[in-house]
Amino acid sequence: STEKPWRPFNRSRVYMADLESALVYSLRVELAAHSVIRGEALTALNKYISVLVKYFPGRPVVMNLLKSVNSWLQNHTASEISYEALREILDNTAQVPDTALPEGERWVGCQGSQPHLRRYPCGMWTLFHVLTVQAKNTGRSDPQEVLSAMRNYVRSFFGCRSCAEHFEIMASESLVEVNTFSSAALWLWSRHNRVNNRLAGDLSEDPNFPKIQWPSPDMCPGCHTVKDNGEHKWSNERVLSFLLSHFSSGSILSDHLQ
Ligand code: FAD
Repeated sequence: STEKPWRPFNRSRVYMADLESALVYSLRVELAAHSVIRGEALTALNKYISVLVKYFPGRPVVMNLLKSVNSWLQNHTASEISYEALREILDNTAQVPDTALPEGERWVGCQGSQPHLRRYPCGMWTLFHVLTVQAKNTGRSDPQEVLSAMRNYVRSFFGCRSCAEHFEIMASESLVEVNTFSSAALWLWSRHNRVNNRLAGDLSEDPNFPKIQWPSPDMCPGCHTVKDNGEHKWSNERVLSFLLSHFSSGSILSDHLQ
């Protein structure tokens, strides 16, 4: 791939360009590895598109595209779909008014210092944090809906298979304990920190973006407290308000959109 100029960005903010790039990569690259989608994978795709339609705080044209994919899937009664048929919907946006998906990826907050670092996995984490926060604001029924869609998507499609296996172990251990929208947002935050902890110092770590227990004391001083014995302790209450603000639709920046 050609070298792209570095786009300056604010490390403590969320960018719509990363969320859209994650969508583009997942719909156009990751799913494309499956020429036929059926069974568990088809269920996973249905649930993924359905939570995006419900909770992705996207631009109207992008939401229209997701809705058109969703209604195509809903109306599709056969037990399998071909990726080619899905690609046609993604490509034929010119025929459906006011629908669009950006042409390619354009990473901003998820830029890496090397082409193989950050980008899509960073965008996927960010996307699902945003979705759990949106569901907390507007979700009506099932507090596990977003996490269960993420679990199924990752299990069926996420290209990094060892990541998918690790994530499945965490989900099977404790996803059942999630019974409120707040605990869903906190579950994803704490599991993401476990992954950060495991990967700190790994080859996959971008030296310019070290894995930390997030958010840092700089970003959220009140999130960090100390037990009587001097050990670090998170304030879940403060972390939750931090997540709700950091990943809220109103805080997402539109810089560098295509
Ligand atoms: P990321 O960890 O991708 O985080 C993206 C951004 O989210 C950060 O820049 C920060 O702003 C924010 N953030 C960081 N921590 C949190 C948190 N706790 N809560 C909320 N927001 C946070 N890689 C492996 O090598 N092995 C694995 O087993 C593995 N499993 C993965 C499982 C899943 C489901 C996903 C999506 C990715 C996985 N990866 C794994 C990739 C890895 O976690 C990182 O995404 C990748 O290394 C890029 O790291 P990054 O520096 O961009 O930060």
